[in-house]
Amino acid sequence: MEQIPYKIYLEENEMPAAWYNVRADMQHKPAPLLNPATGAPMTEQELEGVFCSELVQQELNDTDRYLPIPEEIRAFYKMYRPSPLVRAYCLEEKLQTPAKIYYKFEGNNTSGSHKLNSAIAQAYYAKKQGLQGVTTETGAGQWGTALSMACAYFDLDCRVYMVRVSYEQKPFRREVMRTYGAHVTPSPSDTTAIGRKILSEFPGTGGSLGCAISEAVEDAVSHPGYRYVLGSVLNQVLLHQSVIGLETKAALDKYGIVPDIIIGCAGGGSNLGGLIAPFVGEKLRGERDYRFIAVEPASCPSLTRGRFAYDFCDTGRVCPLAKMYTLGSGFMPAPNHAGGLRYHGMSAILSQLYDDGLMEARTAVQTDVFKAAEEFARVEGILPAPESAHAIKVAIDEALLCKQTGEAKTIVFGLTGTGYFDLVAYAKFHDGEMTDYIPTDAELEKSFATLPTIG
Ligand SMILES: *Cc1c(COP(=O)(O)O)cnc(C)c1O
Repeated sequence: MEQIPYKIYLEENEMPAAWYNVRADMQHKPAPLLNPATGAPMTEQELEGVFCSELVQQELNDTDRYLPIPEEIRAFYKMYRPSPLVRAYCLEEKLQTPAKIYYKFEGNNTSGSHKLNSAIAQAYYAKKQGLQGVTTETGAGQWGTALSMACAYFDLDCRVYMVRVSYEQKPFRREVMRTYGAHVTPSPSDTTAIGRKILSEFPGTGGSLGCAISEAVEDAVSHPGYRYVLGSVLNQVLLHQSVIGLETKAALDKYGIVPDIIIGCAGGGSNLGGLIAPFVGEKLRGERDYRFIAVEPASCPSLTRGRFAYDFCDTGRVCPLAKMYTLGSGFMPAPNHAGGLRYHGMSAILSQLYDDGLMEARTAVQTDVFKAAEEFARVEGILPAPESAHAIKVAIDEALLCKQTGEAKTIVFGLTGTGYFDLVAYAKFHDGEMTDYIPTDAELEKSFATLPTIG
């Protein structure tokens, strides 16, 4: 048989021409978004007050299997895609495993993660609608960076509300965003009513993602020509991220490789949802069987310990309700949590697949995640983002299991990004200052109490 190269590249003309919409093949569709005031499904019109029109269409589309990727977006994708599918020969050698390990590397762009795949699509539709700009929130800054790049490309105004502690303590991403022309405001700020209210109630607060979302939404709905955009969780974001899975499948098909297990880290679920989408489609249509594993932090275990219920998407409780596995919108990961993936809920699509038994989930504690990150970096060269290292950890576990059983399984995982902006967390790990925290059942009960009674 032909030797599999270290990197399987696709040609430009082999890039997908359409995104794959897994909802079209799902027997149980993800539940609709609800209006928090009325409890009724959000109408198109209501959604269009907050989101771009074409993105609302994509959000609500449960029937079209493929949606063409506009030429303008494909042109941008071509600057950093197709991304390589790498055979981790060196990691296999190090682990002495019969397993064959592949990873799809999404960190080869300035934003350093897969988030650019959806950012460019969302910016394109905003531009096409004739909007002046978009608003969003960012925590550590990956999403804000990706959106800034996308807005610069389409000459759109980009207003990013960045959680104040990150704004002050993580100045590097902030400066990348400003390089791309974004207006970055530390949140809470005095530029919005909700920000002023929070500042007066909690002077000196470091802010939170929930508060930043509330400010970004207020900014968008109170300025004509602006809409709010979100970097994960939503159906439309998973749709855009299907480019990851489609390329992965095309690369594997080139060499007749059929994966046994596909693994991804799960925060809001966008990279994992995109990576597994075409494979889930095959499974749903009864064409082939695969195992899918979502990996989440033990300190923020929405799939493995959450409730499948309607909940607010934001701590500020201004966004629609989504039915998802959630820890409650009041959930806050322990302050020592350093590995990202800190969102309280999970994409409605992945939540439904998990509830239907089509996907597995497991947790990893952060010291194990950083150990895996280091092991990977030392043999494969790439410095992984801590988020991505959750997937590495479970890929290594599965490969070591193969070593025990002697099975030569094919494992594919998503390497979502690089960790250059996460070196404070790496320092904590190296200095032995990183600890693990697993919330108690009693603590989770407290945040479940913040679930709305609707649904
Ligand atoms: C944002 C991010 C994630 C998690 O987001 P998902 O929506 O769950 O994919 C994972 N890895 C990296 C590098 C990220 O920036």
